[in-house]
Amino acid sequence: MEEHAADPSHPRYRSLLMRHRLEIAAEKGMLADSALIAHGRGEAYDYLLDEKTSSSAHVATQVALGALVNAQHPVLSVNGNVVALAGDEMLLLAAKLDCPLEVNIFYRTPERMQALLSDLHERKTRLGIDAEILGAEPDATIPGLKGPRAKCESKGILQADVILVPLEDGDRCEALVAMGKTVIVIDLNPLSRSARRGSITIVDELTRCLENMLSMDRTQLPSLESYDHNQTLQDALNTIVDGMRNKFSDGKE
Ligand code: ATP
Repeated sequence: MEEHAADPSHPRYRSLLMRHRLEIAAEKGMLADSALIAHGRGEAYDYLLDEKTSSSAHVATQVALGALVNAQHPVLSVNGNVVALAGDEMLLLAAKLDCPLEVNIFYRTPERMQALLSDLHERKTRLGIDAEILGAEPDATIPGLKGPRAKCESKGILQADVILVPLEDGDRCEALVAMGKTVIVIDLNPLSRSARRGSITIVDELTRCLENMLSMDRTQLPSLESYDHNQTLQDALNTIVDGMRNKFSDGKE
C-alpha cells in the first residue's frame, strides 16, 4: 500500500514515503500527538546533512554495531516513530543480533502500547522471523524517571548492558546512561540532549542508518575505545557548515 504513496521518481520520494508511514501509524493510534513535530525537526536536520550518511556517522554506526554484537544483553528499545518508520528493520536487527526488542514510550497509554505491539507482531509474522517483542508486561522501572514512562521489563531494558534507543528523549537517555549502560542513540540533531548524552551517537536518518547496519560486515568493526563522542558530534556540525558554505556562490542553484 505505502509504495503507492508517491511516485518513486519524485525527487522527495523517500521523504514522502516516511511521511506516509507516519500518517498510517497515526491512523492506527500508534503515535503521540507530538510525533509529527519530532519528525519535522529531524527532516530539517537531514536537509542540512544533504540527506546522506556522512563518513563519521558511518564509523559511529560500525562502532555501535560492534558494541551490540559484543554485548552480554543487548536490547533494542522502540517508540512510536521508530515502529512507524522502521519497524521491519528493527525486527530484522533484533533477529540478527538474537536480542529482544522492547516497546518503551514516553506517553504510555494501554491503547498506544497495544497498537504498537500488534503492529510489531504483524510485521514479525509477515517477515517470518524469530524476534522477542517485550513491553507488554512491565515489571520494573528505570530509576530517576517518574510516571508511566519509567516502566520497563526486567528481562529487557532493565538488564541490558548495551541498548539501542533511536529517537530517544534526553531525560530517558540520561537515566539509562546513569544506570551504567552503553546507550546508542540515532538522532539527526547533533545538538539534542540525547545526542549529547548518549554513549555512542549516530547522527543519521533512522532508516538509512538501519539499512547500513543490517548490511555491514560484522567481522571488521572498530572498537568502542576508538570512538570519540565529542568529535563525532563536532563532525556532524562540520558536515552541515561545510555543506552550506558557498552553496550558491557560483551563481548556480
Ligand atoms: P532531546 O530531549 O534529546 O533534546 P528533542 O526534544 O529535540 O530531544 P524529541 O522531540 O524528543 O527531540 O525527538 C525528536 C528527535 O529525533 C529530534 O532530535 C530529531 O532530530 C530526531 N529525529 C526525528 N526523526 C528522525 C529520523 N527519522 N531519524 C533520525 N533522527 C530523527
